[in-house]
Amino acid sequence: MLITAFLVVSCNTSETKKEEIVENVTKEDKLKELYLKTVKPLFKEFAGVDIPNEFRIDKEDTTVNAGAAMNYVEVSQGLIEYDKDYIKAFVLAHELGHIVTLKQAEQFNLGSEIPNGNKTNAYKKAEYLADIIAVHLITTQEVELGNDLTTNFEVLQNLLGPEIFTHPGAVDRVVLMREYVERSTNKNANTIYQEIIEKIWNME
Ligand SMILES: [Zn+2]
Repeated sequence: MLITAFLVVSCNTSETKKEEIVENVTKEDKLKELYLKTVKPLFKEFAGVDIPNEFRIDKEDTTVNAGAAMNYVEVSQGLIEYDKDYIKAFVLAHELGHIVTLKQAEQFNLGSEIPNGNKTNAYKKAEYLADIIAVHLITTQEVELGNDLTTNFEVLQNLLGPEIFTHPGAVDRVVLMREYVERSTNKNANTIYQEIIEKIWNME
């Protein structure tokens, strides 16, 4: 009797594990597809900037997180598991935003290095800039994801961390993203985008 019970239990357990593995592969594939088919193409205008194709996963990190290096994007297991596409698209686009920031600044004649302000250092400005690049590219090119994102900024705000030396706080980041969304229309999106990029660049 005990043996039977044990076998049934262990059998169930391995079934569950198999299902989890299948589901994980699917979620991983879905995130890769979102990255390659939706997010990466947002950056096609940045000719000459290498946008990575390679994707790495930090299995240990269960928070919603990502990072970008010269030739790969690293995402957390937490981002893979997260169920909202507009958040995943934003996180990935923000990372690519870091890669194209200086190119964008050059196109707007802003100089080749983010200047430190007295109150806002260059690290923090880099985060604001990547946020605005991501929001601008998503809202102007992926209308549905853009709508989901801009009507749910509070969801994003809850995922962004508190202020630290290298990152502005979540509330301040969302304030600037909202400013872009509130001021921009179909006609003037590029102008407002440039104005806000310049405003961040020149922050005190
Ligand atoms: Zn960042």
